[in-house]
Amino acid sequence: MTKLVDGFGRRIEYLRLSVTDRCDLRCSYCMPADHKDFSEPDHWLTFAETEQIVRVFANMGLHHLRITGGEPLVRRNVTDLIRRLHDIPGIDDLSLSTNATRLGKMAGELKSAGVSRVNVSLDTLKADRFRAITKGKLEKVLAGLRAAKEAGLSPVKINMVVMDGINVDEVDEMVEFCGKNDFTLRMIETMPQGDTGRSCSSSYVSLQDIEKDLVKKYDMIPAVTRGGGPARYLQMRNSKTTVGFITPMSQHFCETCNRVRLSVEGTLYLCLGQNDKVELRPFLRAGISDEDLQQVLIEAIASKPERHEFNEQPGKIVRFMSMTGG
Ligand code: SAM
Ligand code: SF4
Repeated sequence: MTKLVDGFGRRIEYLRLSVTDRCDLRCSYCMPADHKDFSEPDHWLTFAETEQIVRVFANMGLHHLRITGGEPLVRRNVTDLIRRLHDIPGIDDLSLSTNATRLGKMAGELKSAGVSRVNVSLDTLKADRFRAITKGKLEKVLAGLRAAKEAGLSPVKINMVVMDGINVDEVDEMVEFCGKNDFTLRMIETMPQGDTGRSCSSSYVSLQDIEKDLVKKYDMIPAVTRGGGPARYLQMRNSKTTVGFITPMSQHFCETCNRVRLSVEGTLYLCLGQNDKVELRPFLRAGISDEDLQQVLIEAIASKPERHEFNEQPGKIVRFMSMTGG
């Protein structure tokens, strides 16, 4: 089998697939409150086009697929798409990133379609703060989390973007909430992705000090298991509670990067923090064969950049996280 290896010897085994750039929330660090400039439906990859790309990737050893967005659960019939992608030979790990507003209704059908685990964005447990950060209702997300648990989606990981003056004072509360509910908390540093991410740079917090504080307070030790992604995990010595740290700014992890991202329009982004990309939609609309698409993907992966430059060039990435498939 041909394997996908980039110019720096990294094996690419993981695709983050954005199925929409739309969202029912407006998180301050992600999408502008008045954003309306969404992709045209004619430009969206069809389910068949998406399936062809994933199939050809999977023929070259890609096995982890994460469905994301925008908010993936606002894409009509997304469960049908997920079922088709789950059936592709080689895809053995199908996960979902969601804001969970629709998980209350959809968790069961998603689990039956093949989603095994979910990452849910949740920055606060206070309803007024939640509204201020996202413009949405906390209660819906909490209902979504309960439904995820009941449906047997496991593990449930909570992604918390930690921001100074906004939610940094809730870290302990989030650790305890996640411990009690058997969720894995992952704290994330704000990235200067689009104007939205940059406008939050004044509230940027390095997670290095928070990590040191938690180690002392909860007697945490490095966790044995890793998630296969960029998070470093710590575990409480006397319990199963684990906490992850995603530190793109204070300690980047590009040397172990194993992923690329595909937008709803069929743009293959080779790095979250660079503009390198390959437009796949024109090839698909011209009826490209699997063999030729394989060659296009091999060449694309060969051009994957070595690392992001969020610190050196914070103004470089104009697109919002919701457009790339964060
Ligand atoms: N809507 C889904 C959700 O919120 O989980 C999936 C897409 S969202 C773009 C994926 C992740 O990107 C979320 O965990 C969100 O917190 C994170 N994110 C968005 N903008 C970010 C930024 N500027 N810096 C760090 N993380 C960001
Ligand atoms: Fe929507 Fe997720 Fe972006 Fe929040 S982080 S605006 S939920 S896409």
